Amino acid sequence: MTFYEFIAEHEKTIRLSFFVATLAIMALWEIIAPRRALTVSKTVRWVNNLGLVFFNSFILRLVFPAAAVGMAVFATQQGWGLFNYFQLPIVASIILSIIIMDFIIYLQHVMVHAVPLLWRLHRVHHADLDYDVTTGARFHTLEILLSMLIKFAVIVVIGPPVVAVILFEVILNAMAMFNHGNVGLPRSLDKLLRWFIVTPDMHRVHHSIEDDETNSNFGFNLSWWDRLFGTYRDQPRGGHQGMTIGIRNFREPKQAAWITGMLTMPFTGKVSGYAINRRQWTEENRKSDHE
Ligand SMILES: [Zn+2]
Ligand SMILES: [Zn+2]
Repeated sequence: MTFYEFIAEHEKTIRLSFFVATLAIMALWEIIAPRRALTVSKTVRWVNNLGLVFFNSFILRLVFPAAAVGMAVFATQQGWGLFNYFQLPIVASIILSIIIMDFIIYLQHVMVHAVPLLWRLHRVHHADLDYDVTTGARFHTLEILLSMLIKFAVIVVIGPPVVAVILFEVILNAMAMFNHGNVGLPRSLDKLLRWFIVTPDMHRVHHSIEDDETNSNFGFNLSWWDRLFGTYRDQPRGGHQGMTIGIRNFREPKQAAWITGMLTMPFTGKVSGYAINRRQWTEENRKSDHE
């Protein structure tokens, strides 16, 4: 059995072990040296955030039993996608696949902020009133399913090696938990790491209540995309201790922290937001036409 076959064979165990290990390390780090004081009961948040994660993995298994890895196996068997067509050395295609998939995740993240209907799903991630390791795994079930569909499309187009898909899922999961940590690195180390990867201080800016700060630092793994596309922001205006985490319209713990509130969040509030914006936009344009 080769190294790659070993990884493919033990995919589920590897993913679960990395999830549990990263969670344990970050949880301990947050207890020893927390970056900010928490505002909501940690027990309530942890039970509900992790409850949602558990619920999501159950639904995901139900809807897409083979998941991304199954799709990568299928694409390889069919000879579909760039890397199945052009035979590069395995290490090169693994590294390139991971970088491309990370870029797509960045684009997807920008998209769920830009499209009002998708923002309804993604705001569940942002409504968390505190920022810690469990925030990194808290997403609405429908956003998880949407992400999987996008992943399927990407796999069919690029045809990544199966092992690259497994590695990417493990890295993305571990990195998301790391950079949502209520922790901080020494300033010089943070600055150095930021040239390559997203650090906790870098992604925390993205969870600010301020709109311009939320619409920056979209990356999850590599920090290159934000720098390249002009969405990079160094620090929050209010400082890491002074900034407010969350979104404006959902400040009630019952809605923002409880699993029932999170699951119903996309369906609450006016749906007419987009129509109103359009009307305003048209009127403003008409006005400027006369000026
Ligand atoms: Zn976001
Ligand atoms: Zn986040």
